[in-house]
Amino acid sequence: MKKYLTLIIVFLLCVFTTFSCKKAKATNKTELTSSENKAPKNIILLIGDGMGLSQVSVSQFYNNETSNFDRFSIIGLIKTSAHGSLITDSAAAATALASGVKTYNGAIGVTKDSISVETIVEQISNRGIATGLIATSSITHATPASFYAHVKSRSMYEDIAYFLVNSDIDFFAGGGLKFFNKRKDKKDLIAQLKRNGFDVNTVVLPQNILSNPPSGQPRKQAILLAEDEMPKMNEGRGDFLPNATKLALEVLSKNENGFFLMIEGSQIDWGGHDNDSDYLISELLDFDKTIGLVLDFAIQNGETLVIVTADHETGGFTLSNDDGNDNKIKPTFSTNDHSATLIPVFAEGPGASLFGGIYENTAVYTKMISLFSE
Ligand code: MG
Ligand code: ZN
Repeated sequence: MKKYLTLIIVFLLCVFTTFSCKKAKATNKTELTSSENKAPKNIILLIGDGMGLSQVSVSQFYNNETSNFDRFSIIGLIKTSAHGSLITDSAAAATALASGVKTYNGAIGVTKDSISVETIVEQISNRGIATGLIATSSITHATPASFYAHVKSRSMYEDIAYFLVNSDIDFFAGGGLKFFNKRKDKKDLIAQLKRNGFDVNTVVLPQNILSNPPSGQPRKQAILLAEDEMPKMNEGRGDFLPNATKLALEVLSKNENGFFLMIEGSQIDWGGHDNDSDYLISELLDFDKTIGLVLDFAIQNGETLVIVTADHETGGFTLSNDDGNDNKIKPTFSTNDHSATLIPVFAEGPGASLFGGIYENTAVYTKMISLFSE
């Protein structure tokens, strides 16, 4: 009898243990799945033009603050080749990110056969999602242009500006005023923007204006603060990028259907082209600071996916040792053009786990649009 009792107790213990373990596992899995698979309401895509891994490393070695790149939990790598070229330019790369197609270098929002292809901005604004673009170049430059324009060559700035004025974009900030008000066709696109319901801000002191966001019902914002590109960081751009980002978040987050915001650190690329490490470092640190405030917003908001990536690397930039001294870093360049190296992707927030792994740059678009479609 005692023997049977022991057996029964052992049997019950086994059943209980197995059951509770299974239950615990199941609960864990449910929690994990729900947080991983939850689709974001908002997506913020930050593009560091020309930002490879050595450029990202600048935020570790030349920064008085802790690098904001350290705050991401999901990291991936993208392959950046263009159609017909192993090494991409910013136009083909941004078209891949914005529309999910590989096209030729120089193409803006068109396929390899020069046929217009819908951008993520066009697709989601049809569904009531608000959209915004910020760049430290002209807003008609290749990277931002690829999110709203369709032209066969990136140098068609006046045509690109025309696309922007007639797009559904709710917020934009950058340089490029002359492509709106000093055009060969004499069209006044600033007046057109106002007719289309934009508050237009062309005052050249960004800090003053951007620190006073409009009160009441948010209106569409067109901010053009330089004739062509914005000034370099080390020539007095100040907090244009973080301030424009703050204002964009304030305006766009009022939309109840969510928003998409693209923010470009445009001039990291130009520091690379110039083989000018001081230029590159100051631009990278400005971008890093902007990432920090975007992450702060996203954490507080809870429904925002933040993705940071680049279009390609520029300069063949590396952090070498200085004359054999392993305790001193000497920024070094191997080209004044773009390179073919893999580019990192950083993601945080709902849907971030989709961005781990190694994949083509076109898949960034595919992943984003799939999250907006859930
Ligand atoms: Mg660019
Ligand atoms: Zn470039």
